[in-house]
Amino acid sequence: MSKQQVKQIRTVKHTRDILPRDFTSDTSAQSHKFQYIESVAREAFRRYGFQEIRTPIFEYTELFARGVGEETDIVSKEMYTWRDLGANNTPGAGDSLTLRPENTAPVIRSYIQHQMWQQSDLAKLFYIGPQFRRERGQKGRFRQFYQIGVEIIGKSDNPAIEAEVIEMLDWILKELKILNTTLSINSVGCPKCRPQFNEMLKKEIEPRLVNMCGDCNHRYETNILRVLDCKRDTEIVAQLPSIQDLLCEECRAHFAEFCRHLDKRKLKYQVDPKLVRGLDYYTRTAFEVLTTSDDLGSQNALLGGGRYDGLSESLGGPPSKGFGFALGLDRFVMSLPEEVSDPSIPKVFLAHLGKEAFEFSLILAGCLRKVGVSCAMDFEMRSLKNTMKLADRSKARYTIIIGEEELTKGRFVLRDMVTREQLELTEAELLEKLKAN
Ligand code: AMP
Repeated sequence: MSKQQVKQIRTVKHTRDILPRDFTSDTSAQSHKFQYIESVAREAFRRYGFQEIRTPIFEYTELFARGVGEETDIVSKEMYTWRDLGANNTPGAGDSLTLRPENTAPVIRSYIQHQMWQQSDLAKLFYIGPQFRRERGQKGRFRQFYQIGVEIIGKSDNPAIEAEVIEMLDWILKELKILNTTLSINSVGCPKCRPQFNEMLKKEIEPRLVNMCGDCNHRYETNILRVLDCKRDTEIVAQLPSIQDLLCEECRAHFAEFCRHLDKRKLKYQVDPKLVRGLDYYTRTAFEVLTTSDDLGSQNALLGGGRYDGLSESLGGPPSKGFGFALGLDRFVMSLPEEVSDPSIPKVFLAHLGKEAFEFSLILAGCLRKVGVSCAMDFEMRSLKNTMKLADRSKARYTIIIGEEELTKGRFVLRDMVTREQLELTEAELLEKLKAN
């Protein structure tokens, strides 16, 4: 077959490669930025006492059907689901499996499966990983995207837990210098007060249905609270009653206490009575952080979360309180205001000239790496000019020049590529100096 006939295989639509900076000019797809945000988040989790959990990329479909809800867009339209092979490898006869579209249900599944409540009154878990949804791709919206999230599950539903999570998010955002954001909060009530609100909504919406979109008509039947989420019928939604006016006493007290804890920490927020999570086991606090810059186009949600006190029971676990959030890592990368340092840039480039120098450099590189210094070198024999071009391109702070003369003298030129300063040092002095700074 001639070369031209071989078809190239590319990434699946609305998925993408996250690449080293050297190989992409798309600043939203550079791996060192993902690493940077992950490292800031990990530092926050260390300070706030969260432990990492890694659940499988795929689960039984039923977990999401029950844990996220059949009526949600995610479960009804967006999941990658297939039938596993059955007994004797019969195609399509096995279990229904799904690539995880989110990570809360898997974490709660794991909490129940490993009886975590036996070991601790409050499990504070975090995860970092890819999620999969068959969404219409657009700026800031992908079919494989990355989330960082936390779940706090156990005996306590103290609103101070929620405020502490918001404080941690505030620290992460400030550390990343993502400053143009707003925090919206709301309470979605509980199984005691929400049915009354739903009834009231139904009555208010019914006469307006003819003027509302198809999605709202569908939600009216299946999940009325989600009508408040509609981005199309905003004028009608603005006239609907506010759940804040119908909260029961306990929910009202919980929300007031949450706000008090935020105020005490001087954390800014706005109450948005239209902010909802549309499932029965979501209770009380819901929140969202939006960016006010236009880096993300219409996808302005950076993260969202809330309380889900009924979820464990609905998945067959013990009654447990739960609270968590998920942030969109891809969207965080797009919102980073400035270049971040790339840890893959080597500290030193070894510029060798001639075969003997090459052999020496191979060993010297090993010695440097053993004392913790990152270094790069080339495996071809080149002229000094071309080698120095490579040194420049590597962005290394220092270059060590190793030629025949240097080998005979046992002294090498260390060039600072920023200040252009040059020093002549022995091998031992080189190691000492590079190790130290
Ligand atoms: P959710 O799990 O839908 O509450 O989403 C939590 C966060 O994940 C959102 O605020 C987004 O930042 C991010 N996110 C959700 N879906 C996508 C997607 N398809 N592509 C990129 N980021 C997403």
